[in-house]
This record gives sequence, C-alpha cells and structure tokens, in this order.
Amino acid sequence: MKFNEIKIVENSWFARLARLVLRTDNVAMVLGKAIHLSGVKKEAFLRNQAWVAHEHCHLQQFKKYGFFRFLWLYLIESMKVGYYHNKFEVEARLAEKTLDAK
Ligand SMILES: [Zn+2]
Repeated sequence: MKFNEIKIVENSWFARLARLVLRTDNVAMVLGKAIHLSGVKKEAFLRNQAWVAHEHCHLQQFKKYGFFRFLWLYLIESMKVGYYHNKFEVEARLAEKTLDAK
C-alpha cells in the first residue's frame, strides 16, 4: 500500500463528531476516498501500520460498494449486529492481522 496515495484530512469535523459519539480520544474514519482524523496527527496515524491497514480496508470497501451504498450497508449491519460484529469491521480487523503476519 502506498501511503502517499491515501488522502488524509486532519482535524476533521466528521471524525470529531464520531469521537464525541464513541467517547474516545482519537478517531480515524473513512469517508469515500479520504481518511478523516481527530485527536491524532497524520504522522502518528501513519506510524501505526495496523491502524492504517484497518482504515485502508474501509477505503477499499467504499470503492467496492460505492459511497452511499456502503454507508447504507454499514448502517444496516451496525443496527443488526452492532459495531464489533459488523462484517465490514471484521474484515478490517482481519486486514490488521494480515499485516502482523508479514
Ligand atoms: Zn473500522
């Protein structure tokens, strides 16, 4: 994966909102083709390879399903099984582990 091809938005308003909702100190979230950050600097985020692999997987999901379709599918999954068992999160966590194995 080429980091310089990944679009990153620091101090994102969307990520800040997610931070408030999730009650966490730092958030990275993918919206379409960009990773939105709040509470974490771009450099620190990019140093965390597992985290990057996780968000990169969400970038692929947006690409695969299309922007609104993915948001919709993600929402439905979340309502049905919650965050942790959401199949898109399961896939993203798997991407972290694949990276660890290398
Ligand atoms: Zn995720």
